[in-house]
Amino acid sequence: MVDESLPRPLLCEDEISLGHMGRLRRWTGGPTVNRLLQILRAHQTSATDRESALHTVAPACGMSVSDYLSSCSMLPFSCFLVNESSVLGRATPSWSPKVVRALWKVLPSGVARFCQQCVEEQLAKRPYAVWRRRDQLPGQISCQRHHLKLLEFAPNAMLQSGPDALLDSRGAAVPDSETKLDIVESICRFNDITSRMLSAGRSWPAESVRLRLVRRGIESGFRATARGSGPLLSDAVFDSLPKSFVDAVLPFAERKRAGQYMPIIDSTVSRSGNGPTPVALALALTALFDDSRSAFDYVTGC
Ligand SMILES: [Zn+2]
Repeated sequence: MVDESLPRPLLCEDEISLGHMGRLRRWTGGPTVNRLLQILRAHQTSATDRESALHTVAPACGMSVSDYLSSCSMLPFSCFLVNESSVLGRATPSWSPKVVRALWKVLPSGVARFCQQCVEEQLAKRPYAVWRRRDQLPGQISCQRHHLKLLEFAPNAMLQSGPDALLDSRGAAVPDSETKLDIVESICRFNDITSRMLSAGRSWPAESVRLRLVRRGIESGFRATARGSGPLLSDAVFDSLPKSFVDAVLPFAERKRAGQYMPIIDSTVSRSGNGPTPVALALALTALFDDSRSAFDYVTGC
């Protein structure tokens, strides 16, 4: 519970947790996040678990830690698959404390991004702008609404500044006209798949998702082994998406040659090896399906 003298620090739509904490820090006048946490705790009338910043900020928003992470962290994307299906609740996220500690602050693209035009639209409605989760997904090169290249900053910019304070530091954003990447249909499909993964707000059991991927791979005629002569899913990924895009979202993708088995992609339709990374899964689904909704519903069994 929060004292009535301190307004409840509500989340804005699609606001990301790191940016939310930075905004609260500036709002309370706290010079550091630790000072922010002291201020919030001082206004909490019931004892809270002080295990982490999350255990102070989430209750201050009137939310459980689980709901807070589900709605404003990147964990639903970063931990889309979990191996221990027994820890999954019914339609609820269930990230272990170890996973939360390791990943809740991590931006999957390694940079903090925003769209200048989106920020200006936010400022027309209220005195501040917020960092949005969707802009932080891998492959979000330009704003889907304004076709402007997203501006990029170091991750800690989210804690330090609102995007509105950074507007002037990069000059005017330029339309993404050189590459037209934002209008390539397969890139839109990839971006829509990653957005669905994020907005689902939960994890899925790796075992059942992988079984469905194997079945889809067989139906589509892709081979799941390094040896053999059948077509490779990795070749289909590079055929359907611009190489520059795959290179940007997948480490070491530039080494791939046509006909060469690429474990990170080709093992997504195999039962062997580790489960796919979120980006590898989204790339595979982009090549395996013609539309994002069918892809998402198929692998999650919805
Ligand atoms: Zn925009």
